[in-house]
Amino acid sequence: MTVSKPGFLTTRAGKILGHVNALRAFARDGKLTPITVQLAPTEACESRCTFCSYRNRNSRSAVRFGDIAVALRSFAKLGARGLELTGGGNPLLYKCKNTSRGINDVIDLAGEAYSTIGIITNGFDLTKIGRSQSAALSWVRLSAVKFFEGKAVQDINFGHVDQTRVGFNFVCPVGAVTSRDLRATLNLDSLTEIIRAILWRFPSVRFIRVVPDISRVLNGEQLAMEHLKLSRLSELSPRVFVDGFGADEFRRPESSGCFVGGFKPFVASSPDYDDVGTVYVCCCYSHFTGQRYDWRYVLCRVSEIVETWGEMQQRIVRVGSAYALRGDVETDWTRACKLCLHAQTNEILFQARAQGDTYIDSHSVSADTSDFATI
Ligand code: SF4
Ligand code: SF4
Repeated sequence: MTVSKPGFLTTRAGKILGHVNALRAFARDGKLTPITVQLAPTEACESRCTFCSYRNRNSRSAVRFGDIAVALRSFAKLGARGLELTGGGNPLLYKCKNTSRGINDVIDLAGEAYSTIGIITNGFDLTKIGRSQSAALSWVRLSAVKFFEGKAVQDINFGHVDQTRVGFNFVCPVGAVTSRDLRATLNLDSLTEIIRAILWRFPSVRFIRVVPDISRVLNGEQLAMEHLKLSRLSELSPRVFVDGFGADEFRRPESSGCFVGGFKPFVASSPDYDDVGTVYVCCCYSHFTGQRYDWRYVLCRVSEIVETWGEMQQRIVRVGSAYALRGDVETDWTRACKLCLHAQTNEILFQARAQGDTYIDSHSVSADTSDFATI
């Protein structure tokens, strides 16, 4: 297997190879160590992107602050040190209905145990993040959708956030970048102008990532074609990165099962949108469940995290698989998921479990804890 280069910008399969202790514990004892926790605190969002993974969610729900506290403490107890605040929803809009706690309270809470805290938001006004909370963030990834809603580069306010910690993310429609059904203003020329303006106004910004819209592609080959069309944007600056994923990364999952949920769990509201904190196996299955949360991919409630991680470990030792989501699917994961962004990660985990230290010693890399998404 060829493992893609573990770039610092986004989730990449090779990153799991930087977490050697977690890999050894998994290989030796079947132990699942949550490395990065993804948390979608609220479903609220001002945008309505066609490519949103959770486009059909109920935008009125927000995970109860008490449940967020339970989730963060439980995962920290299990070893998690990375937190990614993300969506469905814009995390900056988070407000607990019971306590009125907001995103700054979530960052304060996370700061007690998590050394790498990042946030993905479409909000151009980062002044909502307090001074001390801004300092606690290792990275901010700005989704660039507001450029296509009439906002301009001068509307961006980083507030207390150091621009060296900020990256931009452009998701481009598939078929042609001039696609009119999605955004009339989007084409390579207008994209070029926006990127130039960002680089001029924020010369120290960490990166500008451009990526094809993966919600509309059929397979990895098609994705590679889209990548090719966008690739000339990377000539604008070494900071501009056109991300193509690649056929080997975006494909059907391993037939033999899935372990990703144990290492990168996703916490959000339940599929009933009742504000109850719920742990999902990953955040990317929604592309084949109607762009909404789905009970068939739930691992547990937040109150059951520690117990569930113990049960998953026992199950791995007993039968070789961590969970049997979607009813009967346990070892033939190709029946559960059509396309998986974590297929390579699963492949690495299977190899580590099968070959142990021999595999880990020859494949491990050093981890960068200031990384964008630690796995
Ligand atoms: S900004 Fe993000 S959360 Fe909001 S609709 Fe777009 S993709 Fe979804
Ligand atoms: S898409 Fe399916 S196989 Fe891939 S990580 Fe999610 S649950 Fe596992």
